[in-house]
Amino acid sequence: MKRAAIGIGSNLGDSIGICRDVFDLLRNPPAIDIVKASSLYRTSPVGSEAGGWFINGAALIETLLEPEALLDLLLAIEARFGRVRTIKWGPRILDLDILFYEEVPIDLPRLKAPHPLMSERLFVLMPLAEIAPDWIHPQTGLSVREMLDRLLRTDHGQLIEKLEK
Ligand code: ATP
Ligand code: CA
Ligand code: CA
Repeated sequence: MKRAAIGIGSNLGDSIGICRDVFDLLRNPPAIDIVKASSLYRTSPVGSEAGGWFINGAALIETLLEPEALLDLLLAIEARFGRVRTIKWGPRILDLDILFYEEVPIDLPRLKAPHPLMSERLFVLMPLAEIAPDWIHPQTGLSVREMLDRLLRTDHGQLIEKLEK
């Protein structure tokens, strides 16, 4: 089994319900088993095109799927929820990203992991720090907890609020 983390985001429709449903949909052993699911967070949109506030979360999984097969599954789940890609970084019903896959960098045309922007994103690192604080970024040698601490010390300008379970 390989270990990976999935980032979940939504800012259209019933975002909280959608994010909760996704945790259930992902659980599909032995192809995918959820080791831990984070709390959900309400987060301020990043970028001028993003639209309203997001709901974000993350899941730590074990999977038999190779990285690109996992990506295909995530894209299929997004499509099932009606995701349509319009403008880059625009509003979305559901966004599922591979945050990391094991501790080896993946650099394929359609898949980069660890996710290239993770260290700048509070909406990624806060939920991830709940479920995988000690995972080490292979390119920087920093743990998730360290990346979060560093980001919090910068002038990141991102607002985040944990939702009650
Ligand atoms: P961002 O990557 O900045 O979070 P986004 O999630 O809005 O942006 P999408 O439109 O959802 O971007 O995805 C565009 C493409 O990114 C996908 O079709 C996929 O091939 C590619 N991609 C590259 N690396 C990853 C990854 N780690 N997880 C998910 N998709 C990825
Ligand atoms: Ca994304
Ligand atoms: Ca995405």
